[in-house]
Amino acid sequence: MTTRVAVPLNDLAREHAAMADDITAAIDAVLASGWYVHGSRHDAFERGFAEYLGATDVVGVANGTDALELALRAVGCSPGDEVVTAANAGFYTSAAALAIGAVPVYVDIDPATLSIDPAAAAAALTDRTRAVVVTHLYGKAAHMGELLAVAAGIPVIEDCAQAHGARWNGRHVGTLGAAGCFSFYPTKNLGGVGDGGAISLGDPELAARLRRLRQYGWVQRYEVAPPGGRNSRLDELQAAVLSVKLARLDELNDRRRRVVDAYRVAAAAGVTVVHEPGPDFVAHLCVVRTADRDALAKRMASAGVATSVHYPVLDPDQPIMAETRHVAHDLTHSRAAVGEILTVPCHPFMSDEEIARVAEVLAA
Ligand SMILES: *Cc1c(COP(=O)(O)O)cnc(C)c1O
Repeated sequence: MTTRVAVPLNDLAREHAAMADDITAAIDAVLASGWYVHGSRHDAFERGFAEYLGATDVVGVANGTDALELALRAVGCSPGDEVVTAANAGFYTSAAALAIGAVPVYVDIDPATLSIDPAAAAAALTDRTRAVVVTHLYGKAAHMGELLAVAAGIPVIEDCAQAHGARWNGRHVGTLGAAGCFSFYPTKNLGGVGDGGAISLGDPELAARLRRLRQYGWVQRYEVAPPGGRNSRLDELQAAVLSVKLARLDELNDRRRRVVDAYRVAAAAGVTVVHEPGPDFVAHLCVVRTADRDALAKRMASAGVATSVHYPVLDPDQPIMAETRHVAHDLTHSRAAVGEILTVPCHPFMSDEEIARVAEVLAA
């Protein structure tokens, strides 16, 4: 019997090895500085990421879910307000809305992009709607033009946690709506060595509000004014590491796209690689769609290839939602997709052999 080397979904040790000297130097400099929270590395990363995105401001926070919650608070979302969103994006937006006491309103996706359908969002707006949250799912920019048009002044918050570097119509996601929410969880396209997050903004006043909310509601040290403040800070170690990795983000996104290209060329009829590589898709995840998902998952497993499902349960079907106020509109396309999606390995440090092995199963 031949032993097969497993093809993992991700291997962050390889990413580290590729940048180890720079990352270690950056970490050593933070440790030696004696300054660990909200210092010069944090400020430099905020500026550097804002410049990269083409945003007026970036506000560092502790993680991507906090970014969503604080952005919702900053646009005025309060208990009982409605937040319109898709049902298939991993519950992060739901968690943020529920933390505020807001009511998630789920609408269907466009089956072509698997992100929120602007027409469905338009039909769900009420006078209680305080925000629309759009997730650029798997790294693919959603239909921003149509969505902004139908939102008609209601703040559109972008969940960019899977889409660092993706562009819509030439502009980076995170600069199109009222606020862009990023996670730097280690597996993201731009990931730290722990938790981290940020919010990108085009409105300095909104940025100022967020700088207060992320630090106890301080207007200045020890003076608390706005409600909803708390501690959600991006630390110096994460910021220093993220600045090193930001310099390589576009290059690594290109490598991800090449993996997806190989899969698209190989995939047999009946297996659809959901997104096409391009400026609007940074291949955070490579998701394929097929009628018999479980059979494909089994074939992958016997070839030693790891797979996953992002995400297996729609938000309104989560156990907690049985007792939680929410609205679920028609979710026909969302429900169809949940049973057919499969995530296959896609990261910048896959070997040619690993890519070939996945492609071989997709072709069979
Ligand atoms: C990872 C992720 C988040 C949450 O980020 P955390 O830093 O883990 O809180 C939010 N939205 C999406 C789409 C994500 O993939």
